[in-house]
Amino acid sequence: MSDTIFDKIINREIPADIIYEDDIALAFKDINPQAPVHFLIIPKKQIATVNDISKDDREIVGHLYWLAGEIARKEGFAEEGFRTVMNCNEFGGQTVYHIHVHVLAGKPLGWPPYQDRVKKNPMEA
Ligand code: 5GP
Repeated sequence: MSDTIFDKIINREIPADIIYEDDIALAFKDINPQAPVHFLIIPKKQIATVNDISKDDREIVGHLYWLAGEIARKEGFAEEGFRTVMNCNEFGGQTVYHIHVHVLAGKPLGWPPYQDRVKKNPMEA
């Protein structure tokens, strides 16, 4: 599997606003925030998509979601609430092929999160 931009952030080859790091994961602010608070939690292990999460990876993925709550509690927005999102492949809107939990907070978030980007066939009703 080839390196993504997130591997370069893990290896400090490109800068990022890192807010948390341990042996398993890294959290850093999203470069293009979609909410007042928007950061990403990634595993240090290369896992491309949700489809590539193996049985052995369950602890790693659980760690990512545990961290979302832990950072939310420490940063003070846990009670107010927040959203976690993990996009998968093209229709899921994934653009970086190294799994990541988006954590969005700081304002009420609508649902669905955005208009469908997939072009509809104009011949269909
Ligand atoms: P996806 O679309 O794959 O679910 O999310 C990828 C996210 O990574 C996007 O929200 C995008 O703004 C963010 N992103 C892409 N490149 C960089 C980067 O170089 N640095 C940081 N901090 N975020 C990035």
